[in-house]
Amino acid sequence: MSILVIAEHDHETINPVTAAVISAATAIGGPITLLVAGHEAGAAAQQAAGYQGVEKILHAEHASFEHFIAEPMADLLVSLAKEGAYTHILAPATTFGKNVLPRAAALLDTQQISDITGVESADTFIRPIYGGQAIATVQSSDSLKLITVRGTAFDKAETGGSAPVETMDAGVEAGTTQFQSLEKSDSERPDLTTASIVISGGRGIGSGEDFALIEKLADKLGAAIGASRAAVDAGYVPNDYQVGQTGKVVAPELYIAIGISGAIQHLAGMKESKTIVAINKDPDAPIFQIADYGLVADLFEAVPELTEKL
Ligand code: FAD
Repeated sequence: MSILVIAEHDHETINPVTAAVISAATAIGGPITLLVAGHEAGAAAQQAAGYQGVEKILHAEHASFEHFIAEPMADLLVSLAKEGAYTHILAPATTFGKNVLPRAAALLDTQQISDITGVESADTFIRPIYGGQAIATVQSSDSLKLITVRGTAFDKAETGGSAPVETMDAGVEAGTTQFQSLEKSDSERPDLTTASIVISGGRGIGSGEDFALIEKLADKLGAAIGASRAAVDAGYVPNDYQVGQTGKVVAPELYIAIGISGAIQHLAGMKESKTIVAINKDPDAPIFQIADYGLVADLFEAVPELTEKL
């Protein structure tokens, strides 16, 4: 048994979700190779070497990895997998992992196992289905298993290790897909998926301007801002704020839901949060069924007051 974990990084630093994927690989068992595929990504490879439980860093250098386009990344995985060196290939169930791994799985004619939240054994995994309403235990008889891992479901691997770094020239073709441009929302705020506090606003906020109430509270708490799909669809905030079944999955220490009813599709993205606080004027709002603390109040009064008191 031998496991290849694909590191998510920006060529300089490793995204912390990678540490959770390493823990999932450790639970499967077997030596772990951590793949850092990038362009001038030496710094990321050095950081990767510090994770405990990793036997080796494979640092694949190529200009076509600069923007993490799926095609050359998948070609690299196929060439690594074809050598038969690995029994499992793991990636985070993030936009990055969800872009690359299914393509590699199709090229390798392997059934991908998506978004696992637990490891029963080397061939049996736990994963949520129907937007988190049911939990499936799936067993795979494929000799090579391609798996995406829900980062919030696993503890992060410790640092302090010193795995050797092996650099390889990836030698992939540039292919027909070319990078054109990247439009990135630059924010001073913490990243939504890794923040320890998330404050989300829903349709109850009523407008994009009134989302300033959420921003002020988030500033006080150093929190990331999320939103329900209704708030996104109404144009109050950009769609990369969306938390839920078709948005981001978060599990912060503290999740504050403001003016959000608590539809199952929203809960699918936040119900693993350690402490859930809900502010809603409707005492029968379903969000109160999963909230640790509920405040039945008009958000336009409660949120400014809370911000001021903080
Ligand atoms: P509403 O349900 O309209 O709730 C607004 C809440 O605000 C109400 O509870 C109301 O009492 C409260 N409120 C109003 N005014 C005030 C006030 N002044 N003070 C305090 N409280 C107030 N939704 C997601 O969030 N994420 C997803 O990823 C997602 N994916 C979906 C996928 C599918 C296939 C489908 C069908 C739906 C999906 N949805 C998703 C939509 C979901 O079903 C709900 O429609 C949505 O979550 C509702 O958002 P909301 O709670 O903001 O709005």
